[in-house]
Amino acid sequence: MRFNLDTAEIFIPDGLPVEQALARTTHMAVTAHQDDIEIMAAEPILQCFQQKDIWFTGVVATDGRGSPRDDLYKDYTDEEMREVRIKEQKKAAFLGEYAAQILLDYPSRMIKDNGNRNVVEDLVALIRVAKPKYIYTHNLADKHDTHVAVAFRVIDVIRSLPDAGRPEKLYGCEVWRSLDWLLDSDKVPFNLGSHENLQAALLGVYDSQICGGKRYDLASMGRRKANATYFESHGVDVTQGLSFGMDLTPLILDTKKPVNDFIQEFIGRFAKDVADRFERVG
Ligand SMILES: [Zn+2]
Repeated sequence: MRFNLDTAEIFIPDGLPVEQALARTTHMAVTAHQDDIEIMAAEPILQCFQQKDIWFTGVVATDGRGSPRDDLYKDYTDEEMREVRIKEQKKAAFLGEYAAQILLDYPSRMIKDNGNRNVVEDLVALIRVAKPKYIYTHNLADKHDTHVAVAFRVIDVIRSLPDAGRPEKLYGCEVWRSLDWLLDSDKVPFNLGSHENLQAALLGVYDSQICGGKRYDLASMGRRKANATYFESHGVDVTQGLSFGMDLTPLILDTKKPVNDFIQEFIGRFAKDVADRFERVG
């Protein structure tokens, strides 16, 4: 398995040969940065934890060079930041017992350049070998350009594969913008009511980001609790933790459907829900 950049890495926590390690993948998350996986795709990580027949593989597209830094890491060079972020991602992969962790090591600008096919080629090669049944990536209404760029590349990649090589499901997940605004009927709820200790541990390895002044660990656990409580206004809480996904599968079933039209349909249903309520009570 070779990628376009010589600096790309495949980390196999249990040391299995690469092809064999990748081939056991059933669930795969493809994200922009180190830590996005643990923020947005905790459910598949926990589902696969300690299982023999389902396995989680993580893919991070960027190199982490431009990360904010403070405290311990204040004087780190871009290269030192890259190294520390790779080390943190590997710690999470070990802790979460991933089948494999791929670090493609692209600068963000290359991911955002839709004319650059390198990342698309890498992902095509990877998905051909790993054949995941479920893929998790960023949601299309995220407010971080690199996140949305990754989602577009993933959609392009899957669309380019023959039908038999595509995953059954593609989900867009929450990082830089929660999906609380989606209509309840448009939300895919991911149950995170158990293993809070593991969830906290997976988020906690990212010391360079947390020390950088952002409590992503507390914020992510808090969002999961808030999602669970605010999900349905009339029911009792059925779980202590939820994260939400947007089902992007229609975009890989209908490969001609414009991505923008698809996301506008979600926004349109949200706008109508607000307007309809005004009609009723305003
Ligand atoms: Zn990110």
